[in-house]
Amino acid sequence: MYFQEVVSKLENFWKKQGCVILPPFDEQIGAGTLSPYTFLKVLGKKPWSVAYIQPSRRPVDGRYGENPNRLYLHHQFQVIIKPPPFDIRELYLSSLRSLGLKLSKHEVKFLEDNWETAVLGAQGVGWEVRLDGLEITQFTYFQLAAGVELDPVSVEITYGLERLVLFIQEKENVFDIMWNEDITYGNLRLDSEREECIYAFDESEVSRLVEMFNIYEGEGLRLLERGILIPGYQYLLKCSHVFNLLEARGAMSVSERVTYISRMRKMANLSARLVLEREEKDEKPSV
Ligand code: ATP
Repeated sequence: MYFQEVVSKLENFWKKQGCVILPPFDEQIGAGTLSPYTFLKVLGKKPWSVAYIQPSRRPVDGRYGENPNRLYLHHQFQVIIKPPPFDIRELYLSSLRSLGLKLSKHEVKFLEDNWETAVLGAQGVGWEVRLDGLEITQFTYFQLAAGVELDPVSVEITYGLERLVLFIQEKENVFDIMWNEDITYGNLRLDSEREECIYAFDESEVSRLVEMFNIYEGEGLRLLERGILIPGYQYLLKCSHVFNLLEARGAMSVSERVTYISRMRKMANLSARLVLEREEKDEKPSV
């Protein structure tokens, strides 16, 4: 099954379970969790079911396209359901079967891997799912966001699409995956994967990154303090990407790192507060 078909099969599978299928959020982010479709929607009591593909950039993971399964940019397929259906684990396994995987012939393991991200003040109990030893999904019950206890909790399923398709197509290297019948993943992605790494590790300038962070933070805080949620939250996402670039540059001491995280956390908390205030006023949910 080609990469593009895996995406449409997963979309169809989760559409049938009542999820709205959304396009990726258009910011440079490190994981589907940071998208407003997750972080801002797991807050509050209103039910929410969504599935979307999210290009996810992790500068620290960049290897100039030379690693077979660790990338600067990988694609996550993210599912969020609030409240979680009782048979969610079985549904997840059915989604793998819908991709043609014969699970009786493979070893599927759920290994405890509780998850937390300091920037978002988020936490949950979770498992990483390994298929014959390769991690293909993170499965989490979201319990805390912006330090707020969530009730109801949401379930988050994050498929790592490249590793999943590596497995399905029985390839050794991500760049050899077939995207469709003619085009490989490498044809589409290898040049930009290398260039993103050149930028992150060789060309980016620390002083400019720091300047960018400060400007994005100032703008984000200004907007959020005026009650303007999504544009303000987008500046938090920009800060988070710049922070990831600073990390790739090895440009932060331990205490600077903590300070940057608490600066971003402040923006995350302000965003969460706006979401909860709006829900209290019973405003229509929007993303
Ligand atoms: P790892 O431990 O391999 O760094 P992770 O636990 O940080 O991964 P998650 O944030 O849980 O990964 O991401 C969900 C899925 O995305 C993972 O199960 C994995 O399949 C995939 N993934 C994560 N990082 C990368 C990467 N740099 N390149 C390719 N796939 C990735």
